[in-house]
Amino acid sequence: MNSKIAAGILISGNEVLFGKTRDTNGPFVAAHLRRSGVSVQRSLVVADEVFQLKRALSYLAEDCDLVIITGGLGPTVDDLTAEVVAQWFGVPLSFQELAWQTCVQAFARLGKTDVPETNKKQAMLPLGCRLIPNPVGTALGFELEASVHGKSVRVVCLPGVPSEMEPMFLASVLPTLNTEEIQVVSRSWQVFGLGESAMQQRVLELEKQVCSLFPEAVISYQAHLGYVTYSYFAKFDSAQMAQEWENNWNVRLEKEVQARFAHHIVAQNDQPLAQTVLSALQRHSLKLSLAESCTGGELSKECVAIPGASRAFLGSIVCYDNQVKEMLLNVPKDTLQEKGAVSEQTVRDLSEGALRVFQSDLALSISGVAGPEGGTERHPVGLVWFGLALGAGISEQQRGQILEKLRLFGWQAEVAREPIPGSLSKGLVLTCRQNFGSRSARHIIQKRAVNFALGSLAALSSALQ
Ligand code: ATP
Repeated sequence: MNSKIAAGILISGNEVLFGKTRDTNGPFVAAHLRRSGVSVQRSLVVADEVFQLKRALSYLAEDCDLVIITGGLGPTVDDLTAEVVAQWFGVPLSFQELAWQTCVQAFARLGKTDVPETNKKQAMLPLGCRLIPNPVGTALGFELEASVHGKSVRVVCLPGVPSEMEPMFLASVLPTLNTEEIQVVSRSWQVFGLGESAMQQRVLELEKQVCSLFPEAVISYQAHLGYVTYSYFAKFDSAQMAQEWENNWNVRLEKEVQARFAHHIVAQNDQPLAQTVLSALQRHSLKLSLAESCTGGELSKECVAIPGASRAFLGSIVCYDNQVKEMLLNVPKDTLQEKGAVSEQTVRDLSEGALRVFQSDLALSISGVAGPEGGTERHPVGLVWFGLALGAGISEQQRGQILEKLRLFGWQAEVAREPIPGSLSKGLVLTCRQNFGSRSARHIIQKRAVNFALGSLAALSSALQ
C-alpha cells in the first residue's frame, strides 16, 4: 500500500451498538493507524444484520482504501462477517482446513478434544482470502482485496475479543501497511487547572500561524474532567518536510506553548497522568500511599493500571466508613464528630495516618460528598477535601518547591503536628478544598476528585525536577 492510505473501521455487534459492551477495538485500531500515518476517515458501529453490515461496508469503501472489521467471526448465527464479506466481494464461502485446525488447536489448549460441529462455521471463509493467524483464540482473521468503484479496497476482518484482536492487528496487519515513508510528528502537553476555552484564548494566534504554514496540522483538546491533553499532530509525505517542521517549529512551539500555559503544564507527553507521576516518584526513589474515602479506590486503580506501579506506589486504604478512618488511620473520634468526615482536619489526619501506616514518603487523602444524598449547607454535594502529607524522604528544598507549585492550584500548607516517621523533624501537610458542583452526578464528582488528585500529584512531580 502507498503512503496515502485512507481507512475506515467497522465494529460489528449488537452488544456494542446497544451499549452493553464498551467499544475498545475501534479506538485501539484508530489510534495505531493514526500513529502510523494512516488517515482514519470514519468508524461505524453496526448491528449484526447482513443488510446493515453490507451497507456499512459499501459506505466505507466509497472513500477508504482499507476497511478494518472487528467482531462477528464466531460460530453462532449472529456471527456474520465472513458471509457478508464473501457476498460483498462476490465470492463463495469455502472450507479452509487451516482455519479448522486453528479452531481444533484452540480447543486442545483448553484440554478439549471434542470440537462442536457448529465451530465448522469458523472455517467457512471467503474463497481466495488471505488468512491472518490467531495465536490465542478459535477464529482466524482474514482479508480480501479487490477493485471496487474503480479503486483497490482491502478489507481486513479480525475477531471481536480485544485480547485476540489487538495482537493480531499489531503482528499481522499494521506491519503490512508500508507506511515507513510517512513521517508523523506529534507533541502533547497535559494542562491542569485551566478550562478548554481559557486555553483556546491563550493559543488562538499561535494555532492560526501553525495552521497557515502547515494546513495538515491537527490541533486537539482532549478534556478529562479536570485536566486537558493539548496536542499537535501532523504527518508529512517526505522526511524533508518533517525535518522542516522539526527545525522551524518544534522548538518554537515548545517555547510558545510553555509561555502561554506556564505552570498549568504538569506533563509534556500524552501518557496517563498516573504514569508521569509514578515515573517521576521512582526517579526520585519516593513512595506514594493513599487514603481514599469518596473515591473508593479509584485513584489507586489509576496507579495500579500502570505497569511497574509497585516501584513507586505502596497501596491505598479505602476508608469509606468513619470507623475505618478512626481504627486504621487514627483519625480522632472528636475530629470526625466535631469537624465531620469531609473536613480539612480529617484529610490532614488521614494523610498523616497513611504516611505512618505505609511508611511512605508522601501520602494523599481524599474525602468528599459525592451525593446525590448526604449534602448539608456546611458540607454540600460536590465538596471534596484533599490532604497531602510529605514525609522525611522529601528534602527541605523539595518541600519548598512542592509548596510553591501546589499553592498555584489552591493547596495550603501547615507544619504537621507530630514528628513524621523515620525522622525527628516534623513533616509538612498540605490541604486543598474543591467544590465540583452540587448538581454533578456522583460518578462525575468522583472522577473529578481522582483527576484533581492526579493533576496535583503531577504538578508535585514536575516540581521535583
Ligand atoms: P468469538 O470468536 O469469541 O465469538 P467474535 O469475532 O465473534 O469472537 P464477537 O462475538 O463479536 O466476536 O464478540 C465477542 C466478545 O468480544 C464480545 O462478547 C465482547 O465481550 C468482545 N467485543 C466484541 N467487540 C468488541 C469491541 N468493539 N470492543 C470491545 N470488546 C468487544
